[in-house]
Amino acid sequence: MPAHECAGIFWGLAMVRSLIGRLAGPSLRTRVLWLVLAALVLVGLAGWLTLYRIIDSLTLQFGTMIAERQVQYDRYRGMAALSREISLAEALSRSPAMVDWFADEHDPDRKARGLAEMEHYRTAFTDQSVFLVVNASGNYYFNDAQDSFGDDPYSYTLQPSLQRDAWYYATRARREGCHLNVNVDEVLRLTKVWINCLVNRDGEVLGMVGTGLDLTDFIREVVDLPQPGVESIFVDQGGAVQAHRDASLVDFRSITKDIAEKTTIFSLVDDIEDMALLRAMMNGAIEAPDQIRTATLTMGGMPRLVGVGYLDHIGWYNITVMDLQTIIDRRIFLPVGLAAIAILVAVGLALSWIFRIAVLKRLEKVEAGLVALRGGKRAVMEPDRSADEIGRLSRTLIEMSDTITEARLSLESQVRERTEQLQSLVNLDALTKIYNRRGFEEKFAVHRRREDDARRVNGLMLIDIDNFKTVNDTAGHSAGDQVVIEVARRLKAALRRVDVCARWGGDEFIVLVRDCSPQALSQIAEALTEMMRQMPVMLSDGEQLDVTISIGAVLVMADDSLELATEMADAALYRAKEEGRDRVVLFERGETIGEDVEGSSDDVPARPADAI
Ligand code: GH3
Ligand code: MG
Repeated sequence: MPAHECAGIFWGLAMVRSLIGRLAGPSLRTRVLWLVLAALVLVGLAGWLTLYRIIDSLTLQFGTMIAERQVQYDRYRGMAALSREISLAEALSRSPAMVDWFADEHDPDRKARGLAEMEHYRTAFTDQSVFLVVNASGNYYFNDAQDSFGDDPYSYTLQPSLQRDAWYYATRARREGCHLNVNVDEVLRLTKVWINCLVNRDGEVLGMVGTGLDLTDFIREVVDLPQPGVESIFVDQGGAVQAHRDASLVDFRSITKDIAEKTTIFSLVDDIEDMALLRAMMNGAIEAPDQIRTATLTMGGMPRLVGVGYLDHIGWYNITVMDLQTIIDRRIFLPVGLAAIAILVAVGLALSWIFRIAVLKRLEKVEAGLVALRGGKRAVMEPDRSADEIGRLSRTLIEMSDTITEARLSLESQVRERTEQLQSLVNLDALTKIYNRRGFEEKFAVHRRREDDARRVNGLMLIDIDNFKTVNDTAGHSAGDQVVIEVARRLKAALRRVDVCARWGGDEFIVLVRDCSPQALSQIAEALTEMMRQMPVMLSDGEQLDVTISIGAVLVMADDSLELATEMADAALYRAKEEGRDRVVLFERGETIGEDVEGSSDDVPARPADAI
């Protein structure tokens, strides 16, 4: 195949592929449907071509068989119709009575015997007619079925110069034997197949005897077949048509014509090659008359199956021309074709259904699992237990989903834990590990939100280390840190679990004493100052420091904000410092805050209680 044709085919295939790709879209199901459809169309086309070829081959084989049978049958019928007449005519030509009479036509005895013999044979011939020609005189005798010329069958005298009588002289030139001629007797107005047998004696032609068969009957019986699509034609040695359903194609008086004037079977064939083939078949039929030859020839623009047989007794060919399309109607194969199409469609539907069940449905489940996984959920799906690829994919997906989900849950829990730890660190003081200001505010707010707490009276204390700067200055900053840590530890240890103790900033602490009366608040505050006073702080270097604290305390009502409460406590603390430190001052509610505090003039209890 040339390179450009290959390139063309590849280009065509690429175009089809891209077209299918465009039509198919992204869905596997659509693609497979298109693929199945394309495969079905291809299989259908291939099947149709194959079926067509099979039908062609079957038709030809079957037609050849029919043609051979037909030729044999026509041969038999042609022979049967003619051979009896030929035999009779041949017997008459050899009859001694005839030979004697022909030798001396006017001898009365011989003539009487000859006429009697003639009459005898006339009744034996199918046509019930007989003729004879005496060569010496050219006299023509004839009698017919009606015995029209009974006593005197002389009709006329032949004349070589007349075209009308040419048949006799043409046949006489053959010298011997019987010869057939389809002729119109213009005088007697008869169209017949004439059987002309020469009468010889010692090689000399004495005359001719014979009979005729009405061609109409002959054609009706032998040629005019009732089967549609089949034609039987009889032709002579030269191919001139002697018997045909269409009388206009019969070549009358062939024996008297030149080949160029004749209507031959060859003129019915379209191609020169086919003519040569037909001639070869006819020659072959002479060599082996028992074998029937068939071939497909183009006649009248259509292929025709032609069979040729040879009727050796009379020297004619019988030719059967068959139109296979008419004989074997291809529509009988229509149900087969329809059944094949139905089977193909059913197979296509079954294939797509199987594909849907075996692949698509399972892939859809896997896809749904993946979508769930992408959305951060566990791929909840029935495990596909098949051992094939999709089964393995499905199980791997489930395993993967479990692993990812567990890892995510563990990560989330760790993050939560860390966040809580960070959260608590934010609320704790780094040095003392008790709550810082933020932690205290949160705790205070939590207690406030609780309904029962809202009705309670709590105590709030601001605690400040006395003269702490001096500690830093004299013992060092580290010693100061240790003092802060120790004060925090002691406060925490001395208070209840429900109370909240925090570092308010620097050397200042804040304590929420829950559910508390004024007396209890005072007692607790006093106990704390006493605790610090009584027990010096032991530093890491072994040195002991006397540390005291001052406390400003206040009772906090349900409606008091933390800001107000601390302001009141701070006012009390201020007073404690002012009054000489190492003491507790309880803020008396109803007095103005900050009478002694610069810049403060709130309307809440103004006068702190005297030092207790
Ligand atoms: P007062 O009795 O009036 O409270 O006198 P004071 O010296 O304690 O004065 P004040 O409370 O104003 O001083 C607080 C000092 O505490 C100031 C600051 O240098 C020091 N300080 C604050 N935080 C820390 C800390 O974390 N460690 C140490 N070592 N010193 C701190
Ligand atoms: Mg201080």
